[in-house]
Amino acid sequence: MAAINQVIDLSVDDGIAVITSNHAPVNALSAIVRDGLTAAFEKAIADDQVKAIVLTCAGRTFFAGADISEFGKPAKGASLHALFDKMESAPKPVIAAIHGTSLGGGFETALVCHYRVAVPSAKVGLPEVKLGLLAGAGGTQRLPRLVGAAKALEMVTSGVPVGGKAALGAGLVDELVAEGTDLRAAGIAFARKVLAEKRPLKKVRDRAVEGATPELFAEFRKKNAKAFRGFEAPEASIKCIEAAARLPFDDGKKFEREEFTKLVAGVQSQAQRYMFFAERQAAKIDGLPEGTATRPVKKVGLIGAGTMGGGIAMNFLNKGIAVTIVETQQAALDRGCATIRKNYENTAAKGRMTQDDVEKRMAALSPTLDLQSLADADLIIEAVFENMPIKKEIFAKLDAIAKPGAILASNTSYLNVDEIAAATKRPQDVVGMHFFSPANVMKLLEVVRGAKTAPDVLATAMEVGKTIGKVAVVAGVCHGFIGNRMLAQRQAQAAAMVLEGAMPWDVDRVAYDFGWPMGPFQMSDLAGLDIGWSKETSKGATIRERLCEMDRRGQKTGAGFYDYDAKRNRTNPPLVEKLILDFAAEKGIQRRKIGDEEILQRLVYPMINEGAKILEEGMAQRASDIDVVWIYGYGWPVYRGGPMFYADTVGAADVVAALKKLAPVLGEGFTLAPLLLKTAEAKGRFTG
Ligand code: NAD
Repeated sequence: MAAINQVIDLSVDDGIAVITSNHAPVNALSAIVRDGLTAAFEKAIADDQVKAIVLTCAGRTFFAGADISEFGKPAKGASLHALFDKMESAPKPVIAAIHGTSLGGGFETALVCHYRVAVPSAKVGLPEVKLGLLAGAGGTQRLPRLVGAAKALEMVTSGVPVGGKAALGAGLVDELVAEGTDLRAAGIAFARKVLAEKRPLKKVRDRAVEGATPELFAEFRKKNAKAFRGFEAPEASIKCIEAAARLPFDDGKKFEREEFTKLVAGVQSQAQRYMFFAERQAAKIDGLPEGTATRPVKKVGLIGAGTMGGGIAMNFLNKGIAVTIVETQQAALDRGCATIRKNYENTAAKGRMTQDDVEKRMAALSPTLDLQSLADADLIIEAVFENMPIKKEIFAKLDAIAKPGAILASNTSYLNVDEIAAATKRPQDVVGMHFFSPANVMKLLEVVRGAKTAPDVLATAMEVGKTIGKVAVVAGVCHGFIGNRMLAQRQAQAAAMVLEGAMPWDVDRVAYDFGWPMGPFQMSDLAGLDIGWSKETSKGATIRERLCEMDRRGQKTGAGFYDYDAKRNRTNPPLVEKLILDFAAEKGIQRRKIGDEEILQRLVYPMINEGAKILEEGMAQRASDIDVVWIYGYGWPVYRGGPMFYADTVGAADVVAALKKLAPVLGEGFTLAPLLLKTAEAKGRFTG
């Protein structure tokens, strides 16, 4: 085998050239890979002894994609486009032998080959949309030529890869070879077959796009309008597939290039690429040596089978981890377990789980009224009422029951984890694990690091998050941690604006148009207006209290800030409008018109300001962690990159200027974060 460079080898086996890439960890198409491939293909094409060329990869995968760390930087190394032209126009068959994940640029590399063989476990696809991009090297032009317009639309706009078997069925690969087969040998064997049978050089670019009717595109856009709302990349991808059907290949490719160039320079793809790295960064714990040993977690205990306890339990059951769930009353225990079963049965009814799966999960759940049953649990998560004396009492009891080394976690939303830890004689084993509702669905987990939390406890809590499919972020002990502390700022402004002149639906419309799935008042209606409210103590001091007093407690009572019909469609009730106007008059508030710009600034900028405080106080490890919290916990639109990234796109100086101008209406307690001021003065950024 002859080395072309450090990562590319070329060898010839009785007339078949084999080009092998060995660029750990995932054979990303970095400059050095493109350089080596270009030289290797030139050599193999020029060599008359070579009758066919096999392209394969060593290590765990075929080319997994472009090297996204090169994006937005000055171009270096051989051009991918020139390499692709060379490969596709080779006068001898080029065969890709695929294993692992052949995605994005990696799959585009396979598409310029004349034939593709793969193992069944291989996955192929164009996931660029997830980074706010599209396949920019002919992928959107070749894919529909291979699989037809409908399948290409689905693959390109979802970014979801296709497994080997489905890829064979769809015509994405020509042959599947048995799992574990040496792909070099399989590629050579396939090449010999192509040569023996004198098969033609199949160029994907020469094929026509099937099924590309105007109705197909119109229906696809309509069907996905909600999912694609606000995102630029899916629409650009659809347009490229339309172009593939309408234009000759080279013109279509030019169109694709233009669309790609727009996206790659745009804020959305910058934001989405930033989030890709931010999410990975979140797993890193500052001040903790990499490789800190974690504690094994095989048995989990949950205290409280309410809204959160049940949802949290499901995460573990889904991963085959046994859960013991404790309640004080049999009725509450039965209700909680019945809800878990109902959730699973609903999933089964939709065909996303078998009845057997349901039973397996339920069999791993042990309901009990006896806290003592948690004696052998490795991790115990408390999810009882948000009430400090109750939590302290439980932790004191756990101290006597839990085995040494067990991790004691609280799902508290706001309470002081250090105070909870102090109820035990093992505060080093106590940590916050703050899940988000619905806990079996929402991806975010805030891991709250107490003053005395041991490093391996923190590391274990983060690892547990990963095991159950969450994105875990470290937060410090403060009221509401990262997410809810910032949310409080947004909610306070929303409530204030309604008194000053806006209506709930004005505020919600602006929030929705910004890209949130729902506005603050819709969110309150969904969560229930009566959280923390009681009839006995209610004094009608806020609009919210007055709504609760009218038994308008949100969606669950069919009415809150909005009226809801049986299908949960909302309408704006005149009664609520009157209630607001009367309330404002009673308080002597002179209402004024509040424009959309002010609404947006007051919803978002105080959050950014609070984020800066959180960062400055060390309650978040880094600005990107705050963004991860907002994207995964509160539906912040990913294409805006989270509040701190958004602050950077607006510019800290503009945020400060707006907040100073708004100062008279922001409320007495509002103060500018020194870090925000400093960043503005230095014309700096929060995110890299
Ligand atoms: P919930 O009222 O739905 O459930 C609490 C459950 O705890 C009830 O079933 C109750 O019977 C049980 N319980 C009370 N005392 C107990 C005891 N001593 N032993 C065993 N069980 C006991 O409340 P929830 O919404 O699930 O909230 C639970 C915790 O999670 C709170 O700390 C809350 O702040 C936090 N949290 C809630 C949400 C949310 O959106 N609901 C989100 C994140 C965190």
